[in-house]
Amino acid sequence: MLDFSLSEEQQMVQDMAKDFAEKEVAPYVDQDEENHYYRREILTKMGELGLLGWSLPEEYGGNGMGWMEAVLAQFEIAKAHTSWRLSISGNNWGPAMTINKFGTEEQKAKWIPGFLDGSLVGSFGITEPNSGTDVASMKTFAEDKGDHWLVNGTKMWISGGHVCDVGLLYAVTEKGMGAKGISAFVVDYNQSVEGMTRNPIHTKVGMWAAPTSEMVYENVVVPKENLLGERGKGFQECMWQLNNTRVGCANGAASLSAACLEGSVAYANERTQFGKPIGKFQLIQEQITNMKLEDEAALWLVRRAAWLKDQGLPNQQAVSMAKLSSAHAAVNAANTAMKVYGSYGYSTEYPCGRWLRDCKQFETLEGTSNIHTTIVANIELGYAPNR
Ligand SMILES: Cc1cc2nc3c(=O)[nH]c(=O)nc-3n(C[C@H](O)[C@H](O)[C@H](O)COP(=O)(O)OP(=O)(O)OC[C@H]3O[C@@H](n4cnc5c(N)ncnc54)[C@H](O)[C@@H]3O)c2cc1C
Repeated sequence: MLDFSLSEEQQMVQDMAKDFAEKEVAPYVDQDEENHYYRREILTKMGELGLLGWSLPEEYGGNGMGWMEAVLAQFEIAKAHTSWRLSISGNNWGPAMTINKFGTEEQKAKWIPGFLDGSLVGSFGITEPNSGTDVASMKTFAEDKGDHWLVNGTKMWISGGHVCDVGLLYAVTEKGMGAKGISAFVVDYNQSVEGMTRNPIHTKVGMWAAPTSEMVYENVVVPKENLLGERGKGFQECMWQLNNTRVGCANGAASLSAACLEGSVAYANERTQFGKPIGKFQLIQEQITNMKLEDEAALWLVRRAAWLKDQGLPNQQAVSMAKLSSAHAAVNAANTAMKVYGSYGYSTEYPCGRWLRDCKQFETLEGTSNIHTTIVANIELGYAPNR
């Protein structure tokens, strides 16, 4: 039976996350935007409430729930403040889930609980100054020194990079072998301190309450046992991870689109011109309808991707469709909201400016819209498998 309704448990998760967002996230939005401030205690509280523990074994702190519940929760938190869409990706869907999939029992027991209870801030380092979409062209080198790895290179645009405790690092271990020469590591940044420089990027257009960083490694020692999975298989591990963290990106975009729609509806009912609410004008109605159409499509594409993941079914095309569609919806919705709000939208007293700043990231990170277009088409045309 096809059922679009939420179970009682899912409804509870959604209500709890909404309540959390209203009490713990919303009150600080303006202040944190103004100060470009990362409020770590939000992550700590999410951990305490089990809001970071999705799809992972209960022995490591998992909350016994899966992808669908996670996207419901993340949606509510990100709707209050898009910067906080990164919380679950940065801890659970990025590091914890990848360690759970490829790590040894020791690595799982050592790292996963901290990511899920919020005592650790996580990150994943793929991008470099000259290596973005072409992941296999990365240059950061982890040299095998027998009893340890010696890392040299620079990662760029890393979410949480200068505030994280532990992160995934993708680096070359065999030079000249492209994708086959990349390996994954877990790096404890409280331990691998010498030679490490972490610079906050202060020039971002949006996402002001979410820290983003340049990470420079100069002869940084990483313990031998921190190799994650097989040596030389880091590229595949990275693609596997991205197919998870991209759901967070897609869901964040769908949630931003929903925030714009909700705000625009409220404003259209409140604001009167020519003696009636502007919502009564057909051209405003067309704008609301267009937002609603794209918003609803994005929402269900994200939930379908989450459902496929919960079922263990192939989901790569669904994830790319969700990411592509929701990025499009978010950008259009933020643009339209600014028009519906008129001059007040142009004032920083209203959220339209923040929505516009925050929406553009979704067309770029975790695979640009060009790349997701290519993934969808290649799978559809039978040129690539749907994993
Ligand atoms: C706020 C923020 C947070 C981020 N967080 C992280 C993080 O936590 N970890 C991390 O590793 N990275 C992170 N990134 C980096 C992000 O994932 C990359 O910026 C993204 O993958 C694109 O790479 P690029 O910017 O180098 O663009 P490029 O790869 O240089 O692309 C430039 C343009 O060329 C197009 N293009 C490139 N190749 C093709 C192709 N084959 N076909 C068609 N078009 C193509 C792209 O679509 C784009 O329009 C973050 C970025 C930002 C802005």
